[in-house]
Amino acid sequence: ITPTEQAVLDEIEEKGVDFLRLQFTDILGVVKNVAVPARQAEKAFTEGIYFDGSSIEGFVRIQESDMRLVPDPDTFAILPWRQSGESASARMICDVYNTSTGDPFEGDPRYILKQAIDRAQDLGYSINAAPEPEFFLFEEDEEGGATTETNDAGGYFDLAPKDLASDVRRDIIYGLENMGFEVEASHHEVAEGQHEINFEYDDALTTADNVGTFRTVVRAIAAQHGYHATFMPKPIPRINGSGMHTHISLFTEDGENAFHDGDDEFNLSSTAKSFLAGVLEHAPAITAIANPIVNSYKRLVPGYEAPVYVAWSDRNRSALIRKPAARVPAASRIELRSPDPSCNPYLALAVMIHAGLDGIENDLEAPDPVRENIYEFDGKKREEYGIETLPTNLGEAVDALEADDVIYDALGEHVGPKFVEAKRQEFQEYLVDVSEWELDRYLETF
Ligand code: GLU
Ligand code: MG
Ligand code: MG
Repeated sequence: ITPTEQAVLDEIEEKGVDFLRLQFTDILGVVKNVAVPARQAEKAFTEGIYFDGSSIEGFVRIQESDMRLVPDPDTFAILPWRQSGESASARMICDVYNTSTGDPFEGDPRYILKQAIDRAQDLGYSINAAPEPEFFLFEEDEEGGATTETNDAGGYFDLAPKDLASDVRRDIIYGLENMGFEVEASHHEVAEGQHEINFEYDDALTTADNVGTFRTVVRAIAAQHGYHATFMPKPIPRINGSGMHTHISLFTEDGENAFHDGDDEFNLSSTAKSFLAGVLEHAPAITAIANPIVNSYKRLVPGYEAPVYVAWSDRNRSALIRKPAARVPAASRIELRSPDPSCNPYLALAVMIHAGLDGIENDLEAPDPVRENIYEFDGKKREEYGIETLPTNLGEAVDALEADDVIYDALGEHVGPKFVEAKRQEFQEYLVDVSEWELDRYLETF
């Protein structure tokens, strides 16, 4: 038992925690829980908790179904929405191990991210990341099902009384703070019913853990208020969708921001530019992971502040990568604007890191930034500027993933094939379906 583990055991005692939720995520990024009585915490640390992995999406084949969860004590948190009177529940995020070999389980997305972090470490870097998840709050119907009705008519940065959902947002923020988040800013987004809450950057692993927690807290607290929070990327056609822009920077072992260069026009070092070039180079394959559902591609269309074209900019939000203004050297970073909040945050960060490191290792050169609104470019102008387009649907994205050795291999032997298989099937199901739009358009015409 390490001191951190002992501190967790003490807190369990002190706060009267009766249940522990041991969490991990499946390949699709869905948070799974195994609940154990809190008195098993010590055993969980020393031996791990065994579970049958065959019931978890994309995890294992039947014959290798025994998995072991080992909780990471740094992730201990009391669940604020489960506290009542004397009793409390807490969660810890776990690493998954293969019981037959004793090794980390290749299908654990957290492990895939740890490998990306290790690769950066070998090059002398640690990674900071900050996501900007957006989401919608919708009314529930009488049976408690989700609708797409919003109850507020707020727009970007509007204040009360128009923004009726700000009460909910405030409670969400309290909930997040109770779970150890430092919330930096929150605001009503462009669309009705749409919100964004930004939390403090952290190392890449903590950030990925935080995204899972964030989605859980937002949904749970919204539900307490009778709302349905959704991270679906484009719930309403023809208005802004929900992104999860991801800010990223590398730091050296002595705590310097490796992305900063005060002499550069954009304050970006050559390391940053190579990293950026690597992300641009692998952008089509990254899209499969960062935009993993059919609906993701309804967001990646021109005109709604979501990226469509593979370019970077220090000004324009139509580009895939933006260089945000930084007040201090430590804040020099790049913002990848394609990810959406339906992605698996571990895998999304892992592929971004591998793409960027590939750029650094191969000394890739970044193209010039594009300062105009690329949405307004026609095909000819894009060709002139050498600007590619992101995959336009899940099928194309999965093909791009499979064709990109750097990104596909980064997912390992388990996650890569399982992910491709699951996504091909999902896309195929979509292709054979007949939509509302088709019926409206054709049923009476033909
Ligand atoms: N909602 C936009 C998106 O889909 C982003 C708006 C913003 O710049 O925050 O990415
Ligand atoms: Mg936003
Ligand atoms: Mg942003």
